[in-house]
Amino acid sequence: PPRLAGRGLVKHFGPTAALAGVDLEIGEGESLAITGPSGSGKSTLMHVLAGIQVPDAGVVTLRGRQVQGFSERQRSVLRRGRYGFVFQHGQLLSELTALENVAVAAMLDGEPRADAEHLARQWLARLGLAGCAQRRPGELTAGEAQRVAVARALVTHPDVVFADEPTGSLDHATGYEVMRLIVATTRDVEAALVVVTQDPRVAAWCDHSVELRDGRVVPAPAAAPVPDLA
Ligand code: ADP
Ligand code: ADP
Repeated sequence: PPRLAGRGLVKHFGPTAALAGVDLEIGEGESLAITGPSGSGKSTLMHVLAGIQVPDAGVVTLRGRQVQGFSERQRSVLRRGRYGFVFQHGQLLSELTALENVAVAAMLDGEPRADAEHLARQWLARLGLAGCAQRRPGELTAGEAQRVAVARALVTHPDVVFADEPTGSLDHATGYEVMRLIVATTRDVEAALVVVTQDPRVAAWCDHSVELRDGRVVPAPAAAPVPDLA
Protein backbone atom coordinates (compact mmCIF):
# COMPACT_ATOMS: atom_id res chain seq x y z
CA PRO A 1 0.00 0.00 0.00
CA PRO A 2 1.04 3.66 -0.33
CA ARG A 3 2.61 5.31 2.70
CA LEU A 4 -0.32 7.73 2.99
CA ALA A 5 -3.55 7.97 0.99
CA GLY A 6 -6.80 9.90 1.02
CA ARG A 7 -9.91 8.67 -0.80
CA GLY A 8 -13.09 10.65 -1.38
CA LEU A 9 -12.17 13.28 1.20
CA VAL A 10 -14.97 15.76 1.93
CA LYS A 11 -14.92 18.48 4.58
CA HIS A 12 -17.55 21.21 5.00
CA PHE A 13 -17.47 24.31 7.16
CA GLY A 14 -21.10 25.41 7.19
CA PRO A 15 -22.02 26.00 3.54
CA THR A 16 -18.36 25.99 2.42
CA ALA A 17 -16.96 22.77 0.95
CA ALA A 18 -13.30 23.15 1.91
CA LEU A 19 -12.76 19.66 0.40
CA ALA A 20 -15.24 18.46 -2.21
CA GLY A 21 -13.94 14.93 -2.89
CA VAL A 22 -10.16 14.59 -2.98
CA ASP A 23 -8.22 11.43 -3.86
CA LEU A 24 -4.48 11.23 -3.60
CA GLU A 25 -1.69 8.96 -2.52
CA ILE A 26 1.91 9.32 -1.52
CA GLY A 27 4.23 6.39 -2.15
CA GLU A 28 6.89 5.09 0.20
CA GLY A 29 9.46 7.83 0.71
CA GLU A 30 7.91 10.12 -1.93
CA SER A 31 7.24 13.84 -1.71
CA LEU A 32 4.02 15.59 -2.71
CA ALA A 33 3.37 19.32 -3.05
CA ILE A 34 -0.16 20.62 -2.47
CA THR A 35 -0.59 23.91 -4.33
CA GLY A 36 -3.47 26.23 -5.19
CA PRO A 37 -4.78 29.70 -4.41
CA SER A 38 -5.70 30.94 -0.94
CA GLY A 39 -8.96 29.35 0.22
CA SER A 40 -8.69 26.36 -2.15
CA GLY A 41 -8.50 23.84 0.71
CA LYS A 42 -4.77 23.20 1.10
CA SER A 43 -4.63 23.61 4.86
CA THR A 44 -7.79 21.60 5.36
CA LEU A 45 -6.39 18.77 3.21
CA MET A 46 -3.15 18.75 5.18
CA HIS A 47 -5.04 18.78 8.50
CA VAL A 48 -7.28 15.91 7.39
CA LEU A 49 -4.31 13.86 6.09
CA ALA A 50 -2.50 14.49 9.39
CA GLY A 51 -5.48 13.47 11.52
CA ILE A 52 -5.82 16.95 13.03
CA GLN A 53 -9.28 17.37 11.46
CA VAL A 54 -11.77 14.57 10.84
CA PRO A 55 -13.29 14.47 7.32
CA ASP A 56 -17.08 14.43 6.87
CA ALA A 57 -16.62 11.64 4.30
CA GLY A 58 -13.76 9.64 2.88
CA VAL A 59 -10.88 7.75 4.44
CA VAL A 60 -7.23 8.39 5.19
CA THR A 61 -4.90 5.41 5.32
CA LEU A 62 -1.37 5.23 6.69
CA ARG A 63 0.43 2.17 5.25
CA GLY A 64 -2.97 0.71 4.38
CA ARG A 65 -4.50 1.21 7.84
CA GLN A 66 -7.52 3.48 8.22
CA VAL A 67 -6.66 6.37 10.50
CA GLN A 68 -10.34 7.10 11.28
CA GLY A 69 -10.57 3.79 13.09
CA PHE A 70 -8.05 5.13 15.62
CA SER A 71 -9.19 6.67 18.88
CA GLU A 72 -8.31 10.32 19.58
CA ARG A 73 -5.61 9.01 21.92
CA GLN A 74 -4.10 6.80 19.19
CA ARG A 75 -4.26 9.67 16.70
CA SER A 76 -2.49 11.90 19.17
CA VAL A 77 0.29 9.30 19.54
CA LEU A 78 0.46 9.10 15.74
CA ARG A 79 0.85 12.88 15.42
CA ARG A 80 3.53 12.92 18.07
CA GLY A 81 5.71 10.08 16.83
CA ARG A 82 4.80 8.93 13.34
CA TYR A 83 4.29 12.41 11.90
CA GLY A 84 6.60 15.41 11.90
CA PHE A 85 5.41 18.99 11.35
CA VAL A 86 7.14 22.08 9.97
CA PHE A 87 5.08 25.28 9.94
CA GLN A 88 5.54 28.60 8.17
CA HIS A 89 6.76 30.19 11.38
CA GLY A 90 8.93 27.65 13.17
CA GLN A 91 6.72 27.70 16.28
CA LEU A 92 9.66 26.85 18.49
CA LEU A 93 9.22 27.21 22.24
CA SER A 94 10.83 30.59 22.97
CA GLU A 95 12.02 29.76 26.50
CA LEU A 96 13.92 26.64 25.39
CA THR A 97 17.26 26.40 23.58
CA ALA A 98 17.47 24.97 20.07
CA LEU A 99 18.75 21.71 21.57
CA GLU A 100 15.90 21.54 24.09
CA ASN A 101 13.29 22.29 21.41
CA VAL A 102 14.47 19.26 19.43
CA ALA A 103 15.07 17.04 22.48
CA VAL A 104 11.56 17.69 23.85
CA ALA A 105 10.02 16.23 20.69
CA ALA A 106 12.06 13.04 21.16
CA MET A 107 11.16 12.88 24.87
CA LEU A 108 7.43 13.24 24.08
CA ASP A 109 7.94 10.30 21.73
CA GLY A 110 9.28 8.25 24.65
CA GLU A 111 13.07 8.70 24.50
CA PRO A 112 14.83 9.04 27.87
CA ARG A 113 16.28 12.52 28.37
CA ALA A 114 19.94 11.58 27.70
CA ASP A 115 19.08 9.72 24.50
CA ALA A 116 16.79 12.54 23.38
CA GLU A 117 19.58 15.10 23.84
CA HIS A 118 22.03 12.89 21.99
CA LEU A 119 19.63 12.52 19.05
CA ALA A 120 18.88 16.24 19.11
CA ARG A 121 22.61 17.06 18.92
CA GLN A 122 23.02 14.69 15.98
CA TRP A 123 20.11 16.27 14.12
CA LEU A 124 21.27 19.82 14.77
CA ALA A 125 24.72 18.89 13.44
CA ARG A 126 23.18 17.23 10.38
CA LEU A 127 21.35 20.49 9.62
CA GLY A 128 24.49 22.59 10.03
CA LEU A 129 23.39 23.95 13.42
CA ALA A 130 25.97 22.47 15.80
CA GLY A 131 26.97 25.99 16.87
CA CYS A 132 23.37 27.00 17.63
CA ALA A 133 22.50 24.28 20.17
CA GLN A 134 22.47 26.56 23.22
CA ARG A 135 20.71 29.53 21.57
CA ARG A 136 17.07 30.39 22.14
CA PRO A 137 14.81 31.04 19.13
CA GLY A 138 15.13 34.82 19.59
CA GLU A 139 18.88 34.49 18.99
CA LEU A 140 18.51 32.55 15.72
CA THR A 141 18.05 33.87 12.19
CA ALA A 142 14.77 32.94 10.48
CA GLY A 143 16.58 30.32 8.39
CA GLU A 144 18.30 28.81 11.43
CA ALA A 145 15.01 28.68 13.33
CA GLN A 146 13.36 26.90 10.41
CA ARG A 147 16.22 24.38 10.27
CA VAL A 148 15.72 23.74 14.01
CA ALA A 149 12.04 23.10 13.21
CA VAL A 150 13.15 20.58 10.56
CA ALA A 151 15.39 18.85 13.12
CA ARG A 152 12.47 18.75 15.57
CA ALA A 153 10.21 17.23 12.90
CA LEU A 154 12.73 14.52 12.01
CA VAL A 155 14.13 13.56 15.42
CA THR A 156 11.33 11.02 15.99
CA HIS A 157 12.10 9.32 12.66
CA PRO A 158 8.54 9.94 11.39
CA ASP A 159 6.71 8.08 8.61
CA VAL A 160 5.39 11.34 7.14
CA VAL A 161 6.61 14.93 7.39
CA PHE A 162 3.97 17.65 6.87
CA ALA A 163 5.32 21.09 5.95
CA ASP A 164 2.90 24.04 5.71
CA GLU A 165 4.46 26.91 3.70
CA PRO A 166 7.88 26.04 5.20
CA THR A 167 9.63 28.77 3.21
CA GLY A 168 6.82 31.32 3.43
CA SER A 169 8.58 33.66 5.84
CA LEU A 170 12.10 33.28 4.34
CA ASP A 171 13.90 35.18 1.59
CA HIS A 172 14.52 33.32 -1.66
CA ALA A 173 18.06 32.07 -0.98
CA THR A 174 17.27 30.98 2.59
CA GLY A 175 14.02 29.33 1.54
CA TYR A 176 15.85 27.43 -1.19
CA GLU A 177 18.39 26.12 1.33
CA VAL A 178 15.71 25.13 3.86
CA MET A 179 13.68 23.35 1.18
CA ARG A 180 16.80 21.54 -0.09
CA LEU A 181 17.45 20.32 3.46
CA ILE A 182 13.84 19.24 4.02
CA VAL A 183 13.83 17.19 0.81
CA ALA A 184 17.28 15.68 1.40
CA THR A 185 16.77 14.78 5.06
CA THR A 186 13.27 13.33 4.65
CA ARG A 187 14.68 11.21 1.81
CA ASP A 188 17.55 10.07 4.06
CA VAL A 189 15.16 8.78 6.73
CA GLU A 190 12.74 7.45 4.07
CA ALA A 191 9.89 9.61 5.36
CA ALA A 192 7.18 10.68 2.95
CA LEU A 193 6.86 14.45 2.62
CA VAL A 194 3.71 16.55 2.15
CA VAL A 195 4.38 20.23 1.45
CA VAL A 196 1.65 22.89 1.29
CA THR A 197 3.00 25.75 -0.81
CA GLN A 198 1.97 28.58 -3.11
CA ASP A 199 5.53 28.76 -4.46
CA PRO A 200 5.97 26.83 -7.75
CA ARG A 201 9.72 26.62 -7.14
CA VAL A 202 9.07 24.79 -3.87
CA ALA A 203 6.60 22.47 -5.61
CA ALA A 204 9.24 21.71 -8.25
CA TRP A 205 11.45 20.14 -5.56
CA CYS A 206 8.82 17.47 -4.88
CA ASP A 207 8.31 14.19 -6.78
CA HIS A 208 4.65 15.02 -7.45
CA SER A 209 2.28 17.92 -7.05
CA VAL A 210 -1.47 18.38 -6.93
CA GLU A 211 -3.22 21.70 -7.44
CA LEU A 212 -6.44 22.42 -5.56
CA ARG A 213 -9.22 24.73 -6.71
CA ASP A 214 -12.41 25.03 -4.64
CA GLY A 215 -11.66 21.84 -2.74
CA ARG A 216 -10.95 19.68 -5.79
CA VAL A 217 -7.78 18.47 -7.48
CA VAL A 218 -7.27 20.05 -10.90
CA PRO A 219 -5.12 18.31 -13.53
CA ALA A 220 -1.47 19.03 -12.71
CA PRO A 221 0.62 21.06 -15.16
CA ALA A 222 3.41 19.28 -17.00
CA ALA A 223 6.07 18.19 -14.52
CA ALA A 224 8.74 20.82 -13.98
CA PRO A 225 12.35 19.64 -14.06
CA VAL A 226 13.54 18.67 -10.59
CA PRO A 227 16.57 20.70 -9.49
CA ASP A 228 19.75 18.68 -9.00
CA LEU A 229 20.19 17.88 -5.30
CA ALA A 230 23.94 17.37 -5.55
P1 ADP B 1 -6.09 27.25 1.93
O1 ADP B 1 -5.20 26.57 2.89
O2 ADP B 1 -5.91 26.79 0.50
O3 ADP B 1 -6.02 28.75 2.02
P2 ADP B 1 -8.22 26.39 3.66
O4 ADP B 1 -8.18 24.92 3.74
O5 ADP B 1 -7.64 27.18 4.79
O6 ADP B 1 -7.61 26.84 2.26
O7 ADP B 1 -9.73 26.85 3.49
C1 ADP B 1 -10.61 26.32 2.50
C2 ADP B 1 -11.96 26.95 2.67
O8 ADP B 1 -12.55 26.51 3.89
C3 ADP B 1 -11.93 28.48 2.77
O9 ADP B 1 -13.13 28.96 2.19
C4 ADP B 1 -11.91 28.72 4.27
O10 ADP B 1 -12.44 29.99 4.60
C5 ADP B 1 -12.77 27.59 4.77
N1 ADP B 1 -12.39 27.16 6.12
C6 ADP B 1 -11.25 26.53 6.46
N2 ADP B 1 -11.23 26.24 7.78
C7 ADP B 1 -12.38 26.73 8.28
C8 ADP B 1 -12.96 26.74 9.58
N3 ADP B 1 -12.33 26.20 10.64
N4 ADP B 1 -14.17 27.32 9.72
C9 ADP B 1 -14.81 27.84 8.67
N5 ADP B 1 -14.34 27.86 7.41
C10 ADP B 1 -13.13 27.30 7.22
P1 ADP C 1 -3.42 29.26 5.47
O1 ADP C 1 -2.71 30.58 5.45
O2 ADP C 1 -2.53 28.09 5.80
O3 ADP C 1 -4.29 29.03 4.28
P2 ADP C 1 -5.71 30.12 6.88
O4 ADP C 1 -5.36 31.52 7.27
O5 ADP C 1 -6.60 29.87 5.72
O6 ADP C 1 -4.37 29.29 6.73
O7 ADP C 1 -6.33 29.36 8.12
C1 ADP C 1 -5.64 29.29 9.35
C2 ADP C 1 -6.51 28.49 10.30
O8 ADP C 1 -7.80 29.10 10.41
C3 ADP C 1 -6.75 27.08 9.81
O9 ADP C 1 -6.69 26.18 10.91
C4 ADP C 1 -8.13 27.09 9.21
O10 ADP C 1 -8.79 25.86 9.41
C5 ADP C 1 -8.82 28.19 10.01
N1 ADP C 1 -9.75 28.94 9.17
C6 ADP C 1 -9.61 29.26 7.86
N2 ADP C 1 -10.67 29.93 7.39
C7 ADP C 1 -11.52 30.04 8.45
C8 ADP C 1 -12.80 30.62 8.62
N3 ADP C 1 -13.46 31.20 7.60
N4 ADP C 1 -13.38 30.56 9.83
C9 ADP C 1 -12.75 29.95 10.84
N5 ADP C 1 -11.53 29.38 10.76
C10 ADP C 1 -10.93 29.42 9.57
